[in-house]
Amino acid sequence: MKTVRTISEVRAALAAPRQRASAIGLVPTMGAFHDGHLSLMRRAREECDVVVVSLFVNPTQFNESSDLAAYPRDEARDARVAADLGVDYLFAPPVEEIYANGFATTVSVAGITDTLEGAHRGRAHFDGVSTVVTKLFNIVAPDVAYFGQKDAQQVAVIRRLVRDLDIPVRIRVCPTVRDPDGLALSSRNAHLSPDARTRAAGLNRALEAAQHAVTGGERDSRSVSAIARAALTEADVEPEYLEFVSADTMTPVRRIDSDTLAVVAARVGSTRLIDNHLLSTSAAGSSDDRRQ
Ligand code: AMP
Repeated sequence: MKTVRTISEVRAALAAPRQRASAIGLVPTMGAFHDGHLSLMRRAREECDVVVVSLFVNPTQFNESSDLAAYPRDEARDARVAADLGVDYLFAPPVEEIYANGFATTVSVAGITDTLEGAHRGRAHFDGVSTVVTKLFNIVAPDVAYFGQKDAQQVAVIRRLVRDLDIPVRIRVCPTVRDPDGLALSSRNAHLSPDARTRAAGLNRALEAAQHAVTGGERDSRSVSAIARAALTEADVEPEYLEFVSADTMTPVRRIDSDTLAVVAARVGSTRLIDNHLLSTSAAGSSDDRRQ
């Protein structure tokens, strides 16, 4: 695996494979790799001839400077892990390579960014995501790009962006990877104290309680919400939001159907966590996997 730092190095490295019509896969990340990141890389390795992983802690998508400052970074370890997995290129640019002096352009997706993370973290968060992902798509020009269902609203925003701007890339969404107690893996989990780590499992338990109610026939989102909230209270977790939304538009629904996402965000200790389940209305129960 080769680590590259500049846009021109990426383009030079990919010129020959592109000429040969090799399939190029991109996995955008902010590093501090865990099994969630690795699942995306594995999928890319299975499906593409050339795998590029970007590692860029994008300052413009952080709404709290303390969160950016505390964001875990260990490029040397990340590089070893990616190399072991068979990644071809790790694109780890310095901030000035992505945001040159005088940078003045923002890609902003309207509508689906108004709710949930967009409402709680502010407009700049998804603008930062949309702008950097557009740049990565332009720099790497991948055939396929891999994202995690863990960040469901981000997936919806990127799908919209790719459609609206006619970016020729296929978006693949991989299921959320979890610890054995159900906590969705996140680079921020490293900040959880032992007590907060125990409570954090309550997010997934609340989503499971919602699924259980839906499997039992309940379709009214307010009733399901009350059941999920009780599970959060039991775990001593106060949600920033707990909502039932359309997976495509991210707007709240009254009646739960097969397109409904249960989404939750909460600060556990000082760490802000998010999670979601795509609810199944069949008797079989929850499935994070249906939208891959
Ligand atoms: P990040 O480094 O947090 O920006 O995440 C990079 C990519 O990994 C994003 O597409 C995330 O949605 C995805 N990801 C993060 N956590 C998980 C997880 N637990 N399971 C699957 N994918 C994940």
